[in-house]
Amino acid sequence: MKEKNWKAATRFVHAGAHPDPSTGAIMTPIFQTSTYVQAAPGVNQGFEYARSQNPTRKALEEAIAELEGGNYGLSFSSGVAATDAVIKLLSAGDEVVCGNDMYGGTYRLFTKIFQRMGIVFHLVNTTDSENVARAITPKTKLIWLETPTNPLINVSDIAAIAAIAKKNNILLAVDNTFASPALQQPLTLGADIVMHSATKYLGGHSDVIQGALAVKDEGLRDQLHFIQKSSGAVPGPMDCFLVLRGIKTLGLRMKAHCENGEKVANWLRNHPKVKKVYWPGFMDHPGHAIAKQQMKGFGGMISFELKGDSVEETKRVLSSTRLFSLAESLGGVESLINHPATMTHASIPREERIKHGLSDTLIRLSVGIEDADDLIQDLAQAIG
Ligand SMILES: *Cc1c(COP(=O)(O)O)cnc(C)c1O
Repeated sequence: MKEKNWKAATRFVHAGAHPDPSTGAIMTPIFQTSTYVQAAPGVNQGFEYARSQNPTRKALEEAIAELEGGNYGLSFSSGVAATDAVIKLLSAGDEVVCGNDMYGGTYRLFTKIFQRMGIVFHLVNTTDSENVARAITPKTKLIWLETPTNPLINVSDIAAIAAIAKKNNILLAVDNTFASPALQQPLTLGADIVMHSATKYLGGHSDVIQGALAVKDEGLRDQLHFIQKSSGAVPGPMDCFLVLRGIKTLGLRMKAHCENGEKVANWLRNHPKVKKVYWPGFMDHPGHAIAKQQMKGFGGMISFELKGDSVEETKRVLSSTRLFSLAESLGGVESLINHPATMTHASIPREERIKHGLSDTLIRLSVGIEDADDLIQDLAQAIG
């Protein structure tokens, strides 16, 4: 039933969706079951035990593969569980080249868990592909790339870094959470693995924690599935249903996030109290040209700093918005405001943060799909 020629908006609505063969239900049912009855020992319908397979999860995994232009999807209990599975492809002594500006939880997993087990991480500024090439040694097995980054909205050249990975015969994994497949498809640019915190734009409604991987290669899919069933980070069927439902409106939502993002970014940039706005849609953003090339829009994630660099004033603004809720997470229909230094990125040591440009006065916005005028009015009263 796969229609390869469908345009994106059609694919978002129909990806992974097949009427239920036993009832004709148009929506994939929530198969709330732990096991499946076998006709005879070893004789089953492709489902044995729900840590390995579940029909609701299978529908979602098909949808994720289709959205990302891959052949296989894998759905996990959280975004960090998906990242965890990718790093478990490696062994002690192996090396990873990754960004020095990435999601705090990824930094924590790499440096606090896997480093202890003998995997070596080289953190570099990936916005210059040459830095990635220079950090590769004969022991490097993986490049881990986040673009645009959380929270500094830095952009790296996926195709150029994919070429470096190919040349050195190593894997490239891309955290595509900020862009979502509606704006960026790393597999089509040469990446081997795409990772998502489906908690964010894929789910889209701040009502579920989930992660995902998409790949083209069958051998890689088999290795990742083996790791997942052995380690156990599987999502529940109800959560899979929620993400499947979220994906149907991904195209519409991302269009609204991009439109509102542009309006809010431009308004902030012209505000006399604002020092700097981080958003790749600006012509003078260092990653603008690459973003324009590899993304279909610039997204709704914006960070900014106020003039004066006062932590007190920053915290006052963070506590003064009424429509933007002060909370971790992003990518939901509602707008959120966040203080990376004390919230999402508190797990990164202060010195390390400051060195890579993440100041104590950075404010991050996840611009939702409300009316842009209301969002701007809220920021206006909060900034004052
Ligand atoms: C939230 C996030 C993650 C982690 O995902 P969870 O679903 O919270 O486990 C990873 N990468 C990025 C960019 C994120 O924003």
